[in-house]
Amino acid sequence: MFCRECGMEIGKKVKVCPNCGVKPLHGTKHCQACGANTKSKHELCKNCGAQLITKGAALKEENAPKTAKAASFCMPVVGIILFFIWHAKEPEKAKSICNWTIGGVAFGMILYVFGIVWGGFSAATGY
Ligand SMILES: [Zn+2]
Ligand SMILES: [Zn+2]
Repeated sequence: MFCRECGMEIGKKVKVCPNCGVKPLHGTKHCQACGANTKSKHELCKNCGAQLITKGAALKEENAPKTAKAASFCMPVVGIILFFIWHAKEPEKAKSICNWTIGGVAFGMILYVFGIVWGGFSAATGY
């Protein structure tokens, strides 16, 4: 792949470009697939047609919307659906929604267990 900042060819696993010192996918000036010049607003490379990856911009919206988090916390089914929708395209979002879904399930289970204990307690002492 190529550094998106300076266009130098680098290995796939390189985390910081040895030429310019920027994280390779945090730049917007070159295509990561062919190294051609790109502009920050470009979604696809004009030269090779590759989908341009911009980690810097993606970071800002890595977190799922609050409403989606709340929904998946209250209704884990929603979280699971959102997870499957997002996990191919937006793994970061999917991850965060996954955490909220697990949190919601755990919270539900605590309430459930509490309900059983409470029910057992009141049944034992109630009558
Ligand atoms: Zn570079
Ligand atoms: Zn390209």
